[in-house]
Amino acid sequence: MLTYTQARQTVIDRISESPRQPLAVAVGLHDALGYVLAENILADRDYPPFHRSTRDGYAVRSADARTGATLRCSGEIKAGDTVSTPLARGTCVQIMTGAAAPPDADAVVMIEHTSRSRDHIRFDRDTRVGQNIVPSGSEVKSGGTVLQQGTRLGFAELALAAQVGAIELHCAAKPRVAILSTGDEIVPVDAQPGPFQIRNSNSISLATQVRVAGGEPVLLGNAPDHVGELRMQMERGLKEDILVLSGGVSMGKYDLVETVLKELGAEFFFDSVAIRPGKPAVFGRCRNVFVFGLPGNPVSTMVTFELFVAPAIDILSAAAPRSLPLLEARLAAPLTEKPGLTHFLPAKVEWPDGIAQVRALPWQGSGDIATLAQSNAFLVIPADCEKLETGELVQVFLRKDVA
Ligand code: AMP
Ligand code: MG
Repeated sequence: MLTYTQARQTVIDRISESPRQPLAVAVGLHDALGYVLAENILADRDYPPFHRSTRDGYAVRSADARTGATLRCSGEIKAGDTVSTPLARGTCVQIMTGAAAPPDADAVVMIEHTSRSRDHIRFDRDTRVGQNIVPSGSEVKSGGTVLQQGTRLGFAELALAAQVGAIELHCAAKPRVAILSTGDEIVPVDAQPGPFQIRNSNSISLATQVRVAGGEPVLLGNAPDHVGELRMQMERGLKEDILVLSGGVSMGKYDLVETVLKELGAEFFFDSVAIRPGKPAVFGRCRNVFVFGLPGNPVSTMVTFELFVAPAIDILSAAAPRSLPLLEARLAAPLTEKPGLTHFLPAKVEWPDGIAQVRALPWQGSGDIATLAQSNAFLVIPADCEKLETGELVQVFLRKDVA
């Protein structure tokens, strides 16, 4: 059986070996969070566009502003002022943060390092050439690339695009991820379940995870555990970029997902992974569409999505797959687990004294969404580990949506 890292690598390798260029779509700046750029974005002019002061203070010729020197202040420059008159020798000019330094000024002295008497400014210390001035073009030159094709757009990237006036961006169309749950007991979330029925909460968690991962969910509802119905609904899912199924992949008599996928011509790259929860997870390809069969227990579905489906969405967005956000934390209480499988436990990471500390949350197993909703991470217990002591360093992976 594959370990979770091997299974994840299998997903990455299989999807990377048949590269696809997603369609490019034009997206406005306000809607572009989480998209991946399909073009390079260039600077429309030098940045900064002028010699920008980074402090409130006095623009000087550095040679004039030595310790104890006094210079006459000839005026002031605010951010946005047009600046063209060179700084006369033996003078200084008051300047604000973000304003353009005048020609021939080669430094700005912080106001805190001066004292003023009427229009005469006394300098408390020597001044260095270039101090507190960002020269024009030093961040990027006009025509230079500020954002590369393949960059994922977050707040800083979008601000940079805005800075250079790129208000519409050509981005890779988000991979369309069909979501189909299976199970005779499952009813839509807006229906009143009978006494032995369950609302389709996986449709909501999966759609949310798809969005967080940068894909576009296509909700197909639920198929009962019936070969004909399953086949029909899966056929719809096979029109999208990825098909994610929940439920029906375990060993039970009515776990029919693999059987039906096989009938439809699927090849499988793995059909179990050495993890708990999530052991029966399936990954394959059917008619050139990548298919994931995730176990239906809600926490299993969530864990296996993060481990295996999220990197698939990255690659089909024409971006490099992101690493799992693993970090080390100190265990707050001892733990024992059966060895053999890598365990992923709902956990809470906190940073008392700035050092990550994690505690596993007591739970009722992989159906327990209520406990997961108290978590911000999964604690990863390696397969060869039986007992962990308080204070030991363990790996956790943070939930991207809330942590
Ligand atoms: P399965 O993987 O089909 O054996 O399902 C395992 C458990 O997960 C069962 O208790 C199901 O009722 C539950 N389950 C399956 N699908 C869903 C779903 N879409 N939403 C919520 N719970 C589900
Ligand atoms: Mg089922």
